[in-house]
Amino acid sequence: MRKTKAILQRIPRREPMKGSHFINGRWGRSTHNGKCFENRDPANGQLLSVYPEATRQDVDEAVQGARKAFDLWRKVAVAKRGEILLKAMRLLEERKEIVAQAMTREMGKVLAETRGDVQEAIDTAFYYAGEGRRLFGQTTTSELADKFAMSVRMPVGVCALITPWNFPMAIPSWKIFPALLCGNTVILKPSSLTPDSARHLVEVLQEAGIPEGVVSLIYGSGATVGIWLTEHPGVDLVSFTGSSLVGSKVGETCSRTFKKCGLEMGGKNAQIVMDDANLSLALEGALWGAFGTTGQRCTATSRLIVHENVFKEFSEQLIARAESLRVGSGLDPDVQMGPMISDAQRTKVHHYVQIGKNKDGATLLTGGQILCKGEYERGFFYAPTIFHGTSEMTIAQEEIFGPVTVLISVKSFEEAIRVLNHSAYGLSGSIYTQDVNRVMRAIQDMQTGITYINAPTIGAEVHLPFGGVKHTGNGHREAGTTALEIFSEWKAVYIDYSGKLQKAQIDTHGAE
Ligand code: NAD
Repeated sequence: MRKTKAILQRIPRREPMKGSHFINGRWGRSTHNGKCFENRDPANGQLLSVYPEATRQDVDEAVQGARKAFDLWRKVAVAKRGEILLKAMRLLEERKEIVAQAMTREMGKVLAETRGDVQEAIDTAFYYAGEGRRLFGQTTTSELADKFAMSVRMPVGVCALITPWNFPMAIPSWKIFPALLCGNTVILKPSSLTPDSARHLVEVLQEAGIPEGVVSLIYGSGATVGIWLTEHPGVDLVSFTGSSLVGSKVGETCSRTFKKCGLEMGGKNAQIVMDDANLSLALEGALWGAFGTTGQRCTATSRLIVHENVFKEFSEQLIARAESLRVGSGLDPDVQMGPMISDAQRTKVHHYVQIGKNKDGATLLTGGQILCKGEYERGFFYAPTIFHGTSEMTIAQEEIFGPVTVLISVKSFEEAIRVLNHSAYGLSGSIYTQDVNRVMRAIQDMQTGITYINAPTIGAEVHLPFGGVKHTGNGHREAGTTALEIFSEWKAVYIDYSGKLQKAQIDTHGAE
């Protein structure tokens, strides 16, 4: 503890920053008497910055600016758009350490993870910059002579991007970079819990030469700014990442107002450990999957489905390792698990722990406590928590979004897959086994958008599709070429050079 304090004392404390919206190429506070909100460090309550809440007029201005800019931006050569992304990537690379430290301060996860968060944005920019020289469509033949056919990608228009706090740079980057590359203009509304990270991302885009109005950043709550954007007639597309509860409302509004809509939502991910698994590998995977980012990942391992033959050995080792995890400020290099994002989130987690103990009748194996003494006094810390329970229990069914995982014992591979699929969600699943036949059957039978073999439920890479089935998504995927599907519309083009009227289906069948 003395060591932690010494390290943190070396990190300079800054005066709280006054943040601004970025609308029509200008940073500025609301000119319409909007309110402000505070951004505090979840490890110690320190005030980091104060940001303005956008008013309805601010939202209107951002949408009008984005509409105007769309007509110019959609005509900029795709390769040129890609070059701007590449410049933004280089700037992010230069600032990686500063941005990572700022992100750890505002959302708490350990520095190694916030560096990873920034790196994911760098990788994403690099990937879509390269797409600037591809953005392939198809060419094909026509059923008629002297006629040519092809399909091309067209931008959708003005995109509202609504994002959560747990990956405050990676998730906005998954949306912003492919949206811009496709020729759309964007308005980002990040979570009010992580305004600084979003600002860093938009700053590099501005410095890389994004024209006025193409990117706007507005702050505010979901209940105001989020709803205004989703309902706004000037918005063509909403790309949302967050809880399934909010996502279903966003989806309803988009359906009513005929907007294109991508939803990436919650998860209740499971790792299977079979009796032939490399147990020490499975143990490392479980610890990283359950307690990385303090369990606040959509892909977090919140269920561990373990074969009964190895259950005792695995659970004993897991408890011992969880109890030895170092919890503290994410800026301390010795710490392995940071604070939770907020007091409200910690209260929600503690509530689920009470449900687990009292209503579900699960056995609490370790943790289950709010950490609030000594160095934990001012932060939102929670002990790594492990239950032994069954698949039907509330704690094994609902997304808790904290450092809590439930061990479930099973008798066979078939039962393990049944338990894994017994969930409203379908984001990520993993299996540890040495048996290639089980591996292939797991790939075939797991009802998840992402499946890991001998790896934890977390660790997606930017060039593969990211998203889930069931209540996790609405059929779209982020990352890779799949993100282009949401951020562009297909246009089919027919070019007739016969010099006469040719009728498809009619001239080809039975015309004299
Ligand atoms: P949240 O749903 O509370 O908020 C997400 C965003 O939506 C925020 O910007 C919020 O201000 C905004 N919002 C809230 N109400 C709104 C409304 N009525 N209309 C429009 N916007 C509104 O989620 P959160 O607490 O920020 O994030 C945690 C959730 O995100 C978890 O459920 C987690 O699983 C999910 N998540 C999913 C993925 C994924 O890719 N599937 C990734 C990360 C997080």
